[in-house]
Amino acid sequence: MATGKIKVTTENIFPIIKKFLYSDHEIFLRELVSNAVDATSKLKALSSLGEVKGDVGAPLVEVKVDKKAKTITISDNGIGMTSEEVKKYINQVAFSGAEEFVKKYDDKLDDAGIIGHFGLGFYSAFMVAENVEIFTKSYQDEPAVKWSCDGSPKFKLNETDKETRGTDIVLHIAEDSVEFLEDARISELLNKYCKFLPVEIKFGTKEITNKEGEGDDAKEVKETVDNIINNPTPAWTKSPSSLKDDDYKSFHRELYPMNFEEPLFHIHLNVDYPFNLTGILYFPKLKQNVDMNKNRIQLYCNQVFVTDSVEGIVPEFLTMLQGVIDSPDIPLNVSRSYLQSDANVKKISSHITKKVADKLNEMFKGDRKAFEEKWEDMKVIVEYGMLTEKKFFDKAEKFALYQNVDGAYSTWAEYLDKIKVNQVDKDGKTVVLYTNDKEAQHSYITEAKEKSYDVLVLDGPIVSHLIQKLETEKENISFVRVDADAMDKLIQKGEEIPSVLSEADETSLKETIEGVLPKEQYTVQFESMSPTSSPFTITQSEFMRRMKEMSATGGGGMFGMNNMPEIYNLVVNGNHPLVSKVIGEKDADAQKTMLKEATDLAKLSQGLLKGEELTLFIKNRYKDLV
Ligand code: ADP
Repeated sequence: MATGKIKVTTENIFPIIKKFLYSDHEIFLRELVSNAVDATSKLKALSSLGEVKGDVGAPLVEVKVDKKAKTITISDNGIGMTSEEVKKYINQVAFSGAEEFVKKYDDKLDDAGIIGHFGLGFYSAFMVAENVEIFTKSYQDEPAVKWSCDGSPKFKLNETDKETRGTDIVLHIAEDSVEFLEDARISELLNKYCKFLPVEIKFGTKEITNKEGEGDDAKEVKETVDNIINNPTPAWTKSPSSLKDDDYKSFHRELYPMNFEEPLFHIHLNVDYPFNLTGILYFPKLKQNVDMNKNRIQLYCNQVFVTDSVEGIVPEFLTMLQGVIDSPDIPLNVSRSYLQSDANVKKISSHITKKVADKLNEMFKGDRKAFEEKWEDMKVIVEYGMLTEKKFFDKAEKFALYQNVDGAYSTWAEYLDKIKVNQVDKDGKTVVLYTNDKEAQHSYITEAKEKSYDVLVLDGPIVSHLIQKLETEKENISFVRVDADAMDKLIQKGEEIPSVLSEADETSLKETIEGVLPKEQYTVQFESMSPTSSPFTITQSEFMRRMKEMSATGGGGMFGMNNMPEIYNLVVNGNHPLVSKVIGEKDADAQKTMLKEATDLAKLSQGLLKGEELTLFIKNRYKDLV
């Protein structure tokens, strides 16, 4: 028997491990199961090199919980360790045997699938155990050894009588960690961290029901089988050409069993230069409000679950996607801020952006109709991407869609083509008319359509930002909401409609209106439109409205715009019969009443008739009906 001291620089590293190293104690299981999986991968690698003779059997890792004995055992049938190896790999904290192994066999092996780079992996056992035993027998012809350590830097090492090749790690669970002696807790952890490990992981047994015999004689027979908790060959490890659409859908269900909404489409990532990355990303349907904390992208490292917070690795606008990313090239033991400055991570992030843009473009070109059908569900992501990533903006220009009030979709270029003749203002700018609320601005939309203008629906949550972006990005474009005054400044094509009102008519009508609507709030403006257009319309300056909107969402407050007065225009259509009627009314009171009612209707249509005014208005309408 040998005893000794574990080589560590500090006298007692274990309290440090326990308290500070990992905030999540639960990851001990991930570390130990990964080590066990590594041990079987190494054996397989050696066997393929002919260094291990004979049949090595199917690799298996097993986790057992003994509540009475207060132990958790992780067993594998991998390469095992000799006494010398235990001394070298286990006793030397932070000396990674995996790294040495890979270095030694690097040029001989393509892809042995070795996980060990979580650093102090094995010692994370002391986060939950007061005593750890290792029983191990190497594939080499050497006696089995037992190592034990009670959490102090002292350890014991002696020969033992383990017959089979491989390693059992026995954790004697500490009082403060007894939660891990519950089967349900271990199941949960295995499901979280080990669900897609490349080697079968057994946890207990389960009963299945088989049918025996045929027809009426068929019997249901119960059978007890190993409970394998993982899928060793998840879809992302397979080649895209071997998978059908249904395979991707069923993998999505496997990833998110509690999610019942099918994804819109998927992107299979497969890169091996200049970094390694595999994965499958899914576009979820985003029509309804999405819970951003559910069904997030999961990050794996060689099939070991690492985290589902991928901020910094995946560009922000794509964190709304679902699926998995698996890369051994993402440094795991570093802070987020370091992560974001890492060159590989930057490359990965921009690669993912590119892939997503390419896929969208390919879908757009391949089947435009199908793409249009999906658009409402994915536009938030695309628009957000256009706002935040210049490179994505440039690519998305080709496929980002704009829908008009009649439901027709166009790309930006197509849309400009459509409106460039008809919608130009006096400065020669092309005017994009839009609505952010089809219902509320219905009368304005109707008015615009009567003038043969096209109106876009821009109603997403981030659309005001996108409008600003497009205005700065594009020359000679201005966006005008359909209820804004600027619409009147558009150059009317076709014949000019002469006004029937004389200047004197206008002056006197303006005076009367000022007796009905406060002058400081409403500017009266005469237009000669078709007699079928509205007689009175209230509009607001596009500029003023945007300033107000901005101060409401923060940002503008410092300019003292929170108390900005509401200022509107009252546009009077001189050619409407009602306007002639008002002018023709000689009784001053009756004229005022008429104007009041007409302007109330204009306010109502803009949603400005409120409170007492609205109550009174409705009361009077009822009176008229009696
Ligand atoms: P890492 O996994 O990062 O190398 P660990 O501390 O987890 O670091 O493990 C140290 C070394 O101990 C491993 O690299 C491996 O050589 C050895 N080892 C750990 N667990 C096992 C096991 N179950 N079977 C064989 N060797 C193991």
